[in-house]
Amino acid sequence: ENWPEIKGEISFNNISFYYTAEEKVLENFNLKVNTGETIALVGQTGSGKSTIVNILCRFYEPVSGEVLIDGIDYRQRSQLWLHENIGYVLQTPHLFSGTIRENICYGKLDASDEEIIAAAKLVNAHQFIKKLAKGYDTEVGEGGGLLSTGQKQLISFARAVIANPKIFVLDEATSSIDTEMEQIIQEAIKNVLKGRTNFIIAHRLSTIRAADRILVIKKGKTIEEGSHKEL
Ligand code: ATP
Ligand code: MG
Repeated sequence: ENWPEIKGEISFNNISFYYTAEEKVLENFNLKVNTGETIALVGQTGSGKSTIVNILCRFYEPVSGEVLIDGIDYRQRSQLWLHENIGYVLQTPHLFSGTIRENICYGKLDASDEEIIAAAKLVNAHQFIKKLAKGYDTEVGEGGGLLSTGQKQLISFARAVIANPKIFVLDEATSSIDTEMEQIIQEAIKNVLKGRTNFIIAHRLSTIRAADRILVIKKGKTIEEGSHKEL
């Protein structure tokens, strides 16, 4: 498969979606995201933010409407293509039992040591990893249970960006972490956003501020839109 390198422009065109027949979660949702733009989605619980992101990552497909990436319906591409071009971090990052190296590599199976370390450095994870007795060969335990919540988040960031995707999706975690780790994560997010089209479900004020456009979502619709200053 030799598709042209992607730029990272995204369009949701008249997307409707429901998990069950009883509730339409999205109805004719429209959004155009320019290459390199950072979008933050905010809104109450259950408003449909994660659903929008799930559709963008094609964990679910729209019931009707289309998602275009660089003007092409993503259903004309393969899941592998999407995996390579969209890096994502979900609300509760899931690590596999295995080593830190294996967990980062999941984002790019043939990654070299240099690429793994570069990704870990970009997301501020290298500092804590190199202090571990076994470094990148440390077992993370089932579901990453041997790492702290913040450390798990950093590893999942490294996994998301190791293939240098043009599109980055973050469903920001709400878990409370100590101030020092909070600082480290904020800086990691800042680094990760550079040079990509970003789609963030934002809880941190610092992430909301980093967005070019903030959309307030209610019942699957954008009810307000603007920059942090405007809203
Ligand atoms: P939160 O801020 O709590 O993460 P959200 O804005 O991300 O909320 P969604 O998870 O997109 O909201 O949920 C939108 C609606 O879809 C809610 O009514 C939710 O109950 C429903 N929903 C979400 N996931 C599923 C699912 N897997 N099966 C059935 N209904 C679901
Ligand atoms: Mg959600």
